[in-house]
Amino acid sequence: PGLEPGLEPGYDVPALPGMSLAEIETPALLLDLDLAEANIALMAARAAAAGVALRPHAKSHRSAEIARMQIEAGAAGVCCQKVAEAEAMIRGGVPDVLLTNDLVDPRKMARAARLARTARITAIADDLSMIPAWSAAARAEGVELPMLVEIDAGSAACGAEPGAPAAEIAKAIDAAPGLRFAGMQAYCGVAQHIRSPAERRAKIEAAAERVRLTLDALERAGLDCPWITGGGTGSWEFEAAGPWTEVQCGSYVFMDADYQRDAAAPGQALGEFANALILLTTVMSKARPGVAMCDAGLKVQSMESGPPRILEPDPGNSGLEVLGCADEHARVADPNDLLRLGDRLRMTPGHCDPTVNLHDWLVGVRGDTVERLIRVSARGRSW
Ligand code: PLP
Ligand code: MN
Repeated sequence: PGLEPGLEPGYDVPALPGMSLAEIETPALLLDLDLAEANIALMAARAAAAGVALRPHAKSHRSAEIARMQIEAGAAGVCCQKVAEAEAMIRGGVPDVLLTNDLVDPRKMARAARLARTARITAIADDLSMIPAWSAAARAEGVELPMLVEIDAGSAACGAEPGAPAAEIAKAIDAAPGLRFAGMQAYCGVAQHIRSPAERRAKIEAAAERVRLTLDALERAGLDCPWITGGGTGSWEFEAAGPWTEVQCGSYVFMDADYQRDAAAPGQALGEFANALILLTTVMSKARPGVAMCDAGLKVQSMESGPPRILEPDPGNSGLEVLGCADEHARVADPNDLLRLGDRLRMTPGHCDPTVNLHDWLVGVRGDTVERLIRVSARGRSW
């Protein structure tokens, strides 16, 4: 279903619907559909119960099909980092995109404004000097573009100084023809993977102070701020308790080994999400004792947030551990020499977003059967 006819398994796609797990060629990135659907439903329910809108970040999946699943479950739309990502989402039927990244190239602004002809598209800015260019782009397309001012929520990376400087940008947006001031983005990236939940909460409470400072400045400027967006999988429960009206969680649909390590401390919302993303790999060399080499290198998984977690065979009993990756190989410690040539291992990737971007397809499995292939339709679309 959903596949164009004539796709050859092995050549065009890693598997076909109806195949068993054993028939999937490796390396392949699997999506456990039961677990992904549960993650999508759970996040939607938790956000609704907390009284915030959910706008999942499509940077994690880069897949219009998964975006549509999230929207069907109640999401307000999606976030995108890149214009090319947004183009793929809108082409894939997503009606509402927030571009959460700052743009400086007028050609990219023109592409973003063009999208506003067929979908609701919102942009952000953290610098006064960008407002005339955005205004020109919107007017050239004959659209009115909603825009958010982005504040530094504590990452000291992107985002205007909270308070008066941010309000100056908001005023410029409000005054610019073709633009409409719609609210604020306050996303604290550095908070997401703070291991201690208490320290993570404190970081978001500090971000909330920055948001309030900015709300005061906007009020003094006579500007309404109905939309406050931010938060990710690691921190959203803290944003949901503060002045934010919307959360932007991305990784929750998949989870990964890094978030799994964050979730180890009990009592957090983070611990409720399941590892739905599985890298399936085969032992292709067992030439020396203590080591097995698998076909899951850097071209199919990212390692910068730490190694993947081996799910099966159970590393607790077997001592199996991924020691490192080369381009095409993963080196697995096999202290008891349990693995044989052709054995298959299942791993939770270390970091979901860059791993998914290395694959054209997610193999959607239910139980032991391939149900459907999910195209990573914005794969590689980083421009
Ligand atoms: N919002 C923004 C602006 C982001 O950059 C990110 C991820 O980096 C997210 C939301 C989603 O974060 P996560 O994947 O940790 O849920
Ligand atoms: Mn990430």
